[in-house]
Amino acid sequence: MDLQGFFARLLKSLKKTGKKIRRFFKRYTRLLVRHTKAGDYSVLIYTITVLVVFVLIISLIVNIFKPDKKEKKDKVVNTATRTDASTELKDPNSELRAECQAIYDKNKSLLMLVNTKTGLPEDYEFEQHVLNSGAIIDEQAYIDLYRMLKACNDAGYHYSIISAYRDKDTQQGIIDRSVQEFMDKGLSQEEAYKKTLETVQEVGHSEHETGLALDITEEGIYSLSEDLESNETMKWFIDNCTAYGFIVRYPKDKADITGISYEPWHFRYVGAEAAEFMTKNNLTLEEFHSLLGN
Ligand SMILES: [Zn+2]
Repeated sequence: MDLQGFFARLLKSLKKTGKKIRRFFKRYTRLLVRHTKAGDYSVLIYTITVLVVFVLIISLIVNIFKPDKKEKKDKVVNTATRTDASTELKDPNSELRAECQAIYDKNKSLLMLVNTKTGLPEDYEFEQHVLNSGAIIDEQAYIDLYRMLKACNDAGYHYSIISAYRDKDTQQGIIDRSVQEFMDKGLSQEEAYKKTLETVQEVGHSEHETGLALDITEEGIYSLSEDLESNETMKWFIDNCTAYGFIVRYPKDKADITGISYEPWHFRYVGAEAAEFMTKNNLTLEEFHSLLGN
């Protein structure tokens, strides 16, 4: 038997069965009407019972294949968990970043990053303010510096400003002197230069060239060492500089980030708002800039 013959017979058989079913329902309906009209409701009750049982069986089958409510609930919970997870994947620092960006946008020139990797722009200039001592700082930092130094005196401490703005020649002079000192100790020029760069920045890479940085110590102390952190005058500066817009630019535990070992004497002006933000969030200027995406 070929395929065409098979389908022809199948169709014929289906038609026959259909006819039989139709005939059965016709007869059944006639029987139902006849009995009901005669006041015999047994066929009607039987029909209704069969229909009810049929509906129950169908709903039972549907329920078997339908996921139950608990499962549905679990699915909802799963979706919720997934939403939480994707929220977690969202940048956890987004608020901090936004605050950081807002502060930066207001004070870009004060928040300039200068370090071993990032040098000053070639054409960098600033409005200079000459202090009584002859030291020069950026005019933008002057009022707050004046207030800080006065508050220091009022608190009974005495300070010395060791270094403020340095021009390129001064920075080069510091490098040359340091190299010479190491060479006098027997190091080769190359070794001496390498050794020098451990503590001194190359020309164009020192914060002192910005006019926003100052080295401050207690009056009469001229050697700069980490021990200064336990000096009472220095403690006053470390504890109070934030309120005047300064930060301890090279903190103790952040040398791996700043690239410079702890300098409790080096203060950098960034403006009061940025200083408070950075101190509150324990951020170096490098970290502040990475939050900006720089
Ligand atoms: Zn310094």
